[in-house]
Amino acid sequence: MEEKVEKSEKTKGELLKEKLFYKAKQGFEVLDGEKIKKAYDFCEGYKKYLDDGKTEREVACETVKILEGNGFKTYEFGKKYNSGDGVYINNGGKYILAARIGEKTVDNGINIIAAHIDSPRIDLKQRPLYEDNGFAFFKTHYYGGIKKYQWMTIPLALHGVIIKSDGEAVNVKIGEDENDPVFCITDLLPHLAKDQYAKNLSDAFSGEGLNILVGSRQFTDDTSKEDKEKTEKIPERIKLNILSILNEKYGITESDFISAELSLVPAAKAKDVGFDRSMLGAYGHDDRVCAYPPVMALIECKNLNNTACVILADKEEIGSEGNTSMQSHIFRHFIESLAESQNVCKAKTFMNSKCLSADVNAAFDPNYAEVYEARNAAFINNGVVVTKYTGSKGKGGSSDASAEFVNYVRKVFDDNDILWQTSELGKVDQGGGGTVAAYIANLNINVVDLGVGLLSMHAPFEVASKIDIYMMYEASKAFIEA
Ligand code: MN
Ligand code: MN
Repeated sequence: MEEKVEKSEKTKGELLKEKLFYKAKQGFEVLDGEKIKKAYDFCEGYKKYLDDGKTEREVACETVKILEGNGFKTYEFGKKYNSGDGVYINNGGKYILAARIGEKTVDNGINIIAAHIDSPRIDLKQRPLYEDNGFAFFKTHYYGGIKKYQWMTIPLALHGVIIKSDGEAVNVKIGEDENDPVFCITDLLPHLAKDQYAKNLSDAFSGEGLNILVGSRQFTDDTSKEDKEKTEKIPERIKLNILSILNEKYGITESDFISAELSLVPAAKAKDVGFDRSMLGAYGHDDRVCAYPPVMALIECKNLNNTACVILADKEEIGSEGNTSMQSHIFRHFIESLAESQNVCKAKTFMNSKCLSADVNAAFDPNYAEVYEARNAAFINNGVVVTKYTGSKGKGGSSDASAEFVNYVRKVFDDNDILWQTSELGKVDQGGGGTVAAYIANLNINVVDLGVGLLSMHAPFEVASKIDIYMMYEASKAFIEA
């Protein structure tokens, strides 16, 4: 009997297709169990980072703890550092620049990873507290791009700092402890929402309508019958009661709100998502999911050829303006200071440096498939996302990475078995977005966007894949060590 071996062999066409076609890789299909366990374990540390840091100030603070715990010291301008030294700059408490000095001088180039640590939220106005028909509320001005309706009727926590008239800083964090009260924005009951239903989504909820419910009880004085009656005649007693509570707790008066930065953020903690716990849901993945992994990579990479630098910038969500943003000259000052301390050329240092602009991307969501172009979309569990260009309407506002640099990055990733994919943000002309890449590129540094794909980006509860989060760590490590 003739053996039919040819049946089990691949045809010429099949082999050719295997050789020539780009094939997307799905993490749970291609990674071994050990690596998947590493991914799940890595996310436990990340969960804590998310829960402990819900504003840029808190994330900066937590990051400093991690850095100092691993021997990093405050950078001193003008000082010469040795290979292996870890340094950091805490700029205004909202921006962290951490670096590990390499074996070679910095004019050989610095390997940089830049993420941001501010997230969309609801900020208090400078005169927030008022009373209206039996309630006390805070007036707000939202921060970054939010879909307003998502922030209504969910428990919110108040985070921030108040600088009192005498200069004392008071840290505020209410709504995170199990026994804390929370705050909320009310919404109209469906029974009376006929007119609201008829509006466009963008008109139905106004910025001035995002008022935070903070109380409903009047200030009373039971010292004597006379005092009680007199007190009842004071107008705005609910507001008075709130200020009395705040004065007792923090020693503040109403005018202290003027020099305060207070934000409402979702009161929920980071949680595993799904029966298989394959995903992680949390507030603030954008962009802490690209901040924590490179920080963890930097503290673990101890012997480097090139100096490595991780930047966690503020104000990305409102345009990267200001002294704590990626456009702040602190970055340039730091690089130039390093070059000066090693007596090497500054321009050459910038020119030879390489950067990953680390920010999240939109992962394909089957419930909204119509806004994605699936061939060029990022998929959950398919690894970190390399985004050659961002921008909108014809790549407007984007720093379009060069083919040469994209090739450099893909080689680094392939050589280190990094699970990665490429994508752009949604369909052409559907919208778009930007990152800090352009500001770094303008310093004559090669840069490309790299990040984790998210579902429900900018929502109070964003979802990411544990494999992708872990790959962000491995990708950061490979890039730093390259
Ligand atoms: Mn972002
Ligand atoms: Mn964002």
